[in-house]
Amino acid sequence: MGIGKIISNRRAVFLDRDGVINRAIICEGHSIPPVKIDELEILPGVLEALMKLRAANYLLIVVTNQPDVARGTAVKEGVEEINNYLMATLPLDAIKTCYHDDSDNCNCRKPLPGALFESSEVFGIDLKRSFMVGDRWRDIEAGQRAGCKTFFINYGYKERKPNAPDFIVASLLEAEKIILRGL
Ligand SMILES: [Mg+2]
Ligand SMILES: [Zn+2]
Repeated sequence: MGIGKIISNRRAVFLDRDGVINRAIICEGHSIPPVKIDELEILPGVLEALMKLRAANYLLIVVTNQPDVARGTAVKEGVEEINNYLMATLPLDAIKTCYHDDSDNCNCRKPLPGALFESSEVFGIDLKRSFMVGDRWRDIEAGQRAGCKTFFINYGYKERKPNAPDFIVASLLEAEKIILRGL
């Protein structure tokens, strides 16, 4: 093994933010993020699920698309305020936020897996032994492209469905139980 060889042997659970960690606001069947802290509600069971996953030595990394910033309908400071609150309140290792829209051609906007690959390098994560939990097709596809097993929390949004998630669950807590019983 050469000098500088990175050992990637940690396992992670990648988590979408809105609809997984905190309640998404539903507007005409579509999910929209809270824009300020007084709209933020952490979902039931999330703290318990994260604590159990952390106790089992999983890295917990939130990967979130926030395109409303690029679209001009939300401000970066509002997103950061919510992220800072989540980091301070929950046992999370990192929050990776994409502020771009499709036209920006970044590699961090899900379904692209750039944020997962970057996290893998920074933290030494074995992506094939890791998981992605999300409530939209973009989350599931990003996880699949990174080689993770995927959990789809199905709220029945009126939008494109994900293609072949490994598991369909009702909450992060349900996903945690499946992960920790060894699948
Ligand atoms: Mg979501
Ligand atoms: Zn991006």
